[in-house]
Amino acid sequence: MSDKRTVFKCPRCQTVISRPLLFLGCDESVCLEDQKSAIPVGFFGINMPEYWNVTGRFLVNLADLLRTRHHSERRRSGCCGLDGTGGPNLVCPNGHEVGTEKSDCWMSHVAILLDDVEVLNEFYKKECQEKSSPSTGGREDFSLEIQPTSL
Ligand SMILES: [Zn+2]
Ligand SMILES: [Zn+2]
Repeated sequence: MSDKRTVFKCPRCQTVISRPLLFLGCDESVCLEDQKSAIPVGFFGINMPEYWNVTGRFLVNLADLLRTRHHSERRRSGCCGLDGTGGPNLVCPNGHEVGTEKSDCWMSHVAILLDDVEVLNEFYKKECQEKSSPSTGGREDFSLEIQPTSL
């Protein structure tokens, strides 16, 4: 069973907007070369201010988006793709904003999903915590203090 894979959904109508994706890892850096995909197909990453200074948290390959559409003209700025500088330009099939597509020639290509998109499987959070707290080899389960009940 592929229980480590995550699916993203529209926060308002719960339409699935991505394929099942694996977490790239907390310390995996994304590709920031022009016209290349920032995230490999089949994975998602976490946005950082030094990557893209736009609203949104999750980074997804554009090929892994499902049934999303582009926003009305005023958000579709860019010279040969979408530069995403006008705000979120991706919407779910029902027209709700879900993220920002970056696909112009002077940037690496990615979809940045908004903070409030629904995450079907939050396994990635556990993965991050495990990495940031080095294990001492002992099991913490046994160190729980038992408080005697005082009457
Ligand atoms: Zn929706
Ligand atoms: Zn261009």
